[in-house]
Amino acid sequence: MADHGSDADIRKKDDKNEFVKHFIDIDNYEDYKNTGRIESDFEKACQKYGRTRVIKEGTLPWATDSTYRELVENFKAGNWSRAVLTAADLGHYIGDGFMPLHITGNYNGQMSNQTGIHRRFEETMIDRYIDQIQLNSGDCKKIENVHQFIFSYMYANNKYVNQLLQSDSVAYNYAGKAYNDVYYEAMWKNSSVFTGKLLEESSRTMAALIYTAWIEAGKPKIPERPGI
Ligand SMILES: [Zn+2]
Repeated sequence: MADHGSDADIRKKDDKNEFVKHFIDIDNYEDYKNTGRIESDFEKACQKYGRTRVIKEGTLPWATDSTYRELVENFKAGNWSRAVLTAADLGHYIGDGFMPLHITGNYNGQMSNQTGIHRRFEETMIDRYIDQIQLNSGDCKKIENVHQFIFSYMYANNKYVNQLLQSDSVAYNYAGKAYNDVYYEAMWKNSSVFTGKLLEESSRTMAALIYTAWIEAGKPKIPERPGI
């Protein structure tokens, strides 16, 4: 699964429909600004907001949901080699859903004069401090309503956008208005607690959804070595 964790990103090159599956600019919706939610049924959302707009703002929650459904079908069919690839895609979309900048219109800080934050945060900073990230394991629980659950964690993770932007601007000012070593050190200090929490929750969610899919498929017998 780890080997195929980036397959979904690689598909963007050949499949023009793939791109929008990796994000949702959820805070561009008036409904979200007013109530903290949006219409979560895809067809109803298209009726309410317009299909072109729904696709343009990004379809991450629905892509996650449909990939989960696909995994249930793979398990039911006993197609273990396919299930490995589907589970890897599911993990990818879940990972995107736990990256606050994948669930906001201000995905690269372009709306707040912080252009480039996407890469600074998820790539440069993480690469520098990856050795300090420790994930605690937890219980793997069955999820009761998968569709609702996916939307809930996206609503919750959007709340980190402000904290993240704040961490970036504080670090930038502290570093003398530069993105240098001092910046990254301060950025890590300001954001490591919630970054670690997001990574941990993301991996727990991945485990929980794979487990739930397997239960929903009727707990098929797992082969010794599901090869690809
Ligand atoms: Zn992605």
